[in-house]
Amino acid sequence: MNKMTYIAGPCAAENEQQVLDTARALSGIEGLIFRAGIWKPRTRPESFQGVGDEGLLWLSRVQKELGLPVATEVANADQTTKALAAKIEYLWIGARTCASPITVQAIADAIIYSPHRTNLHGVFVKNPVNEDEALWQGNIRRLQQAVSNVLAVHRGCNHQPCWQMAYQLRINMPEVGLLLDPSHMSGDAERVSSLCRDAAELEYDGLMVEVHPHPEHALSDARQQITPEHFTAIIHSPQDRYTTPIELRWMRKMIDEVDDRLWDAIARRMAVSQRIGEYKKANNMEVFQPSRYNEIMTNRLVWAEKHGLSKETVKTIVEALHQESIRMQQ
Ligand code: PEP
Ligand code: MN
Repeated sequence: MNKMTYIAGPCAAENEQQVLDTARALSGIEGLIFRAGIWKPRTRPESFQGVGDEGLLWLSRVQKELGLPVATEVANADQTTKALAAKIEYLWIGARTCASPITVQAIADAIIYSPHRTNLHGVFVKNPVNEDEALWQGNIRRLQQAVSNVLAVHRGCNHQPCWQMAYQLRINMPEVGLLLDPSHMSGDAERVSSLCRDAAELEYDGLMVEVHPHPEHALSDARQQITPEHFTAIIHSPQDRYTTPIELRWMRKMIDEVDDRLWDAIARRMAVSQRIGEYKKANNMEVFQPSRYNEIMTNRLVWAEKHGLSKETVKTIVEALHQESIRMQQ
């Protein structure tokens, strides 16, 4: 992979040593932007919330002693003002914050009104936690009011890639650089390298990856962080060559994701069906209930018509699902 923007570093700055050790281990990567979260918007209040303002001093040491540009996450206007005053070159806005356009606008305004705004080199905008492509694009436009260099970071939703949302961004905003965050997209260190390959295949402009010297001891997102050595190996791995047109590559990623969700839904359906089977057994009911079967089939055939799908095909699928349910309940 080459000519990519790489942002790498720990999910959270935990202590000064960890920040400097990680930055040093990554400092040989050309053009790297070092990341570390200091104010962490966590789902649960009992989780590690970040070290706060003190972390700005550690990031300054990374800039001065290792010559690396640094990035941190801001979730409100106050944090933005503080980060700019501390001469942090890059900011990113996290997926939870991006669910609120009011907060995103307040961050854009804080940049506009900061006397230190010239220190800022760019802002990265994650997709919101919900699959809302219009909101992602709207947030990017809010930031463009404040900074010329705004890039998008695609991190998916609920550990699903949501390729469709990123494809739509590419089509609607082709001038905006698009990065992939395989760490939050998967939540799983073992899936990071294959998602980095997907990013290369789909011609992303860069990667944002969580890197920790000892992922197993990380105070946040321990399961998804990779070591500096692992990250270095990923970016130096040989590039695949693609003969399929880019448009088709995107559509195949989308259809693979739809299939993954479809098969997950089938597995979930069978799990519920099994519980129904247990209930029927405990209550001496027959496994096959014709009236219920007819109800499901009738509803689905109406649905088939509405969606322009062949009734024959839909009937075959309903029958197959029903057969499998019966088999499990017996
Ligand atoms: C992060 O990058 O540390 C982070 C919190 O990511 P996200 O907002 O995508 O969950
Ligand atoms: Mn994280």
